[in-house]
Amino acid sequence: MPLLPTFRAAARCRPLGCALAVVALALAGCATSPTGRSQFIAVSDAQMERLGATSFERMKQSDRLSRDGRKLATAQCVVSALKEALPASAQRLDWEVQVFADDNPNAFALPGGKIGVNTGMWTVAATPDELAAVLAHELAHVISRHAAERVSQQMAAGVALEAAQAYSGSRTTPENTRLLMGALGLGAQVGVMLPFSRVHETEADVLGQRLMAEAGFDPEGAVRLRAGMIAKAGRSGRPPQILSTHPDPQNRIVALQARVAELRPVAEQARASGRRPACRM
Ligand SMILES: [Zn+2]
Repeated sequence: MPLLPTFRAAARCRPLGCALAVVALALAGCATSPTGRSQFIAVSDAQMERLGATSFERMKQSDRLSRDGRKLATAQCVVSALKEALPASAQRLDWEVQVFADDNPNAFALPGGKIGVNTGMWTVAATPDELAAVLAHELAHVISRHAAERVSQQMAAGVALEAAQAYSGSRTTPENTRLLMGALGLGAQVGVMLPFSRVHETEADVLGQRLMAEAGFDPEGAVRLRAGMIAKAGRSGRPPQILSTHPDPQNRIVALQARVAELRPVAEQARASGRRPACRM
C-alpha cells in the first residue's frame, strides 16, 4: 500500500487539497484486489456506483446513441454471458449496456455496471469471442475497483476536488467534472487522458481473460482482438485511442497468448457446465 507517497503528496499540496487529503487518509481503507494486490481506497463502493451512474446518464444525453439494434443485442448478449462468471457482489449491480455511434474502437465499464461500446469496436472485433475479450477486460477494471483507486489517489494528491464535492452534494465546475470522468476511465470522451496504470492494465488483462474463459468464451479471442487493433493502427497510421491509453500492445499480446493453454480447459469446463454463449455479431 503506497502510504508514504500519499503523505508526501499531502505535505506539498495546497490548503484545500491538504484538507481533502487528510479526509481521504482518515477515511482510507486497505483493500485487496482480486489478484491479491494491496489497494489504497478512500471512497465507498456506493459512492463510486453513484458516480458511475451519473456519468453514464450524462453521456447518454450528450453523446449519440447508436440505432443499430443488432449491435446492441450482440453487446447485451456478451455482457449477460460474462455476468454469469462474475462474483455475486457484482451480479447484483444494475447492469446496463449501450452502444454509442462513434467510429473510435473503444469501450468502457463504469462502477455500478454501466457499459458503453462504440460502434467502431465492430471494426476491430470480428467475433463474439473478440468482443467478449474487450468487455471482459473492462468488467475486470470494475470488479477490481480501479476507478475507486484512481479517485482515491487523486483525492489524496489534492487534484480531484470534484470527488469530495460530488459526495457532499455541493456545486461543481465543468473542469472538475472532466477530471473526475477522466479518473473513471472516460478520458477519451472528455479529453482528459488519464491512462490506466500498467499495474491496472495487467490486472485487467489477467482477470478479464480468465473471466471470458469462465463464461465459456474462447480465451484466444483476447489475442486476436489485440492483434487486430495493432493491424488496424498500422493500416491507418493513427493508433486508436484505446491503444494510447493502454500501454505496451506487443508485450500484452505475448502475455495473453501465454495464458491461452492454461485457460482453454477452463473454457471447456464452463461450456460443459452449460455456459455456452450463443451471441451473434
Ligand atoms: Zn484497460
